[in-house]
Amino acid sequence: MSHESKDAPAAPSDFIRDMIRADVGAGKHGGKVVTRFPPEPNGWLHIGHAKAICIDFGVAREFGGRCHLRMDDTNPTAEDISYVEAIQRDVKWLGFDWAEHMYYASDYYERFYELGEKLITKGRAYVCDLSDEDFSKHYRGTITEAGKESPYRARTAEENLDLFRRMRKGEFKDGEKVLRAKIDMTSPYMKMRDPPLVRIKHAHHYRTGDTWCIYPLYDFAHCLSDSFEGITHSLCTTEFESARELYDWVIRATEVPHVPRQTEFARLNLTYTVMSKRRLLQLVEGKLVHGWDDPRMPTLAGLRRRGYTPEAIREFCAKIGVAKNLSTVDMALLEHTVREDLDVRSPRVMAVLKPLKVLIESYPEGSVEEFDAPYWPRGTTPPAGAKANARKLPFSRVVYIERDDFMENPPKGYYRLAPGKRVRLRHAYIVTCTAVVKDEKGEIVEIVCTHDSATRGGTAPSGERVEGTIHWVSAAHAKDVEVRLYDRLISTESAADDDWLASLNPTSLTVTRAKAEPSLSEVTAGERFQFERLGFFYVDPDSKTGAPVFNRTVALKDGWQKVAQAAPEAPKSAKPKEVSAPKAPSAPIELSPEQKALADAHGLSADEARVLSQEAALRALFDAALTFDATKKKAVAGMLVNDVLGEMRSRKVDTVTFDARALLELVSLVGDATISTKQGKDVLGEMFSTGKSAKAIVETKGLKQIANASALEPLVEQVLSENADAAARYKAGNANVFGALVGMVLKKSKGQANPKMVTDLLKQKLG
Ligand code: ATP
Ligand code: MG
Repeated sequence: MSHESKDAPAAPSDFIRDMIRADVGAGKHGGKVVTRFPPEPNGWLHIGHAKAICIDFGVAREFGGRCHLRMDDTNPTAEDISYVEAIQRDVKWLGFDWAEHMYYASDYYERFYELGEKLITKGRAYVCDLSDEDFSKHYRGTITEAGKESPYRARTAEENLDLFRRMRKGEFKDGEKVLRAKIDMTSPYMKMRDPPLVRIKHAHHYRTGDTWCIYPLYDFAHCLSDSFEGITHSLCTTEFESARELYDWVIRATEVPHVPRQTEFARLNLTYTVMSKRRLLQLVEGKLVHGWDDPRMPTLAGLRRRGYTPEAIREFCAKIGVAKNLSTVDMALLEHTVREDLDVRSPRVMAVLKPLKVLIESYPEGSVEEFDAPYWPRGTTPPAGAKANARKLPFSRVVYIERDDFMENPPKGYYRLAPGKRVRLRHAYIVTCTAVVKDEKGEIVEIVCTHDSATRGGTAPSGERVEGTIHWVSAAHAKDVEVRLYDRLISTESAADDDWLASLNPTSLTVTRAKAEPSLSEVTAGERFQFERLGFFYVDPDSKTGAPVFNRTVALKDGWQKVAQAAPEAPKSAKPKEVSAPKAPSAPIELSPEQKALADAHGLSADEARVLSQEAALRALFDAALTFDATKKKAVAGMLVNDVLGEMRSRKVDTVTFDARALLELVSLVGDATISTKQGKDVLGEMFSTGKSAKAIVETKGLKQIANASALEPLVEQVLSENADAAARYKAGNANVFGALVGMVLKKSKGQANPKMVTDLLKQKLG
């Protein structure tokens, strides 16, 4: 949908497509392109996966190749057939087709096993008795130190074969033995230091049942699956960059005939949401949302139910492009993209969210008129298969308008309704406000207008210009409908790392009732509308005949336009605003010597050292804070890197308005538990806006952390009794639920509870 050029859109170009073009040109793999999208069926797909799907399937389509859908199902405890079905549904919905190329890594278990034996026979793998923990603590070494060899490394091939066969037979317990690649304990690539290939796990698998009690690890299974399927280009995200050496090693060492090649691109991160499946699962299991397809979720099913179209999501993926650098894309770009898409496909209708009664005293009592109102804006062609371009709009003596469309004492330039002002009721009449009716408390309950009968249909015959046009619904004909309004899932640009549930936006869902025009009483689930001036709405599957439920997909106001305009260097084609990610990828971070020195000198994490060395304002604050109170340096660094940086980013500033003493004061208030972490964040925001000291803010707002057990216990009890099933699942061993329960207590306390204490109390209660 390029507005810039009249030519056909150019085929996308990026480093991956350039590479493939070159390979095809050079006749590599006979000029064939075979890719795959390999999700693990342990959760539903999210918008990040959409990026990968668009690349994997898109590239295959562009080069006349094919893309496989493969379930990377090698971890029995997390996987389930329901996830497979959800994944298939969502890939199809997004507009891609794997045809007959549906595969499961679990179908290859026997072949993985045989190749395990082959590696042993060749002296390239051994059975090791060291526990995971022991190996990584005492043998693997660190980025700066070489590792040392496992005492089991010298086992003979015969002994290894025997042990490996007995592993398969189930003679050993989980973790007692593991098959390791025999590579190089001094390799600069940590992954090459005798990585595990096959582990023991006595667990039921959703497809292979109890046939196996040993399961291959990702690094063993993935590359081999690629090879078995004849994948030419194995495209994945950059967290696998550090695994590429091992990928190639396994392919070489097993001597499989087909050699695929791995190439990495940056994973998608979005502001104001969370995207890791683990966190999404926590939201679902903890009932903090209403399931995987809750319209607040960044899952494809959630977005679909919110009203997003597959076209909009594909267009978004095209806009963000493919690059290697990690970046966070502004949620406003996604919203902008869906708005553009819905604008051309949504009929316009009227509904009032916060009704204010208007009596049109000049209009005859009992009389009703019907206006022919077009569904589509003048001058546009309705899309193919669209609703007929008209509906009847009844008008009568009492109508509802939006509460916000009236002001008793309007400021200059207010174009909506006010005493003495004229405004157009869309498609109906121009009216003038003559009186305001209030109740005994002084609240406005009704306004009174006269209508200008010469303006029937909303046009002034004299050519008079009326500045404001507002929407309305006839009170006698209004249909009472349920409307669900959504806001961001996470209140801050990025969720906190530790108690990220405290970053959940408590008002992400508002369920309300609206007065809708009568044509909206007969809608079917899946239909889309623009409620004039309010946003785009989607008819939720919860709708019943005569009782529709509308989800607001997105409001009309476009925050992205502003973002794009504020950055004049941004090209008009709405390039994503790239906010460098606050967190590095999970691959080991390479620190410069100065950064390393900073980390070592103060015991900082690699992330902290990196951010402090890159953000001058933060570094200055850190250094100054050290001169006042060096004992708090860890806490100071944490606050700077996690909270202050986040605040700077969301305010789009690169300086801080308070000094190190003020910062230390805040660090102490949080550190000594006077206020909660969540409250600390709010105080920080106030410090930025008002320049007041942390103490002053805490005092005026009367902030206090709830840190006594007797006050917290009732909340904990309440959450446990309301979520008895979650509690039961936790007791049955589902650890994911725990965080969610903590989150629910924190939420109940409006962020005032001390998370540590909540955690302890919950642990106590749950045994
Ligand atoms: P998560 O980290 O969200 O739990 P995952 O990477 O474990 O997801 P998989 O099912 O293994 O989920 O992902 C399947 C494919 O999707 C992988 O190739 C992965 O690289 C890709 N993918 C996952 N998340 C993103 C993302 N945010 N952006 C782009 N690609 C992604
Ligand atoms: Mg993964």
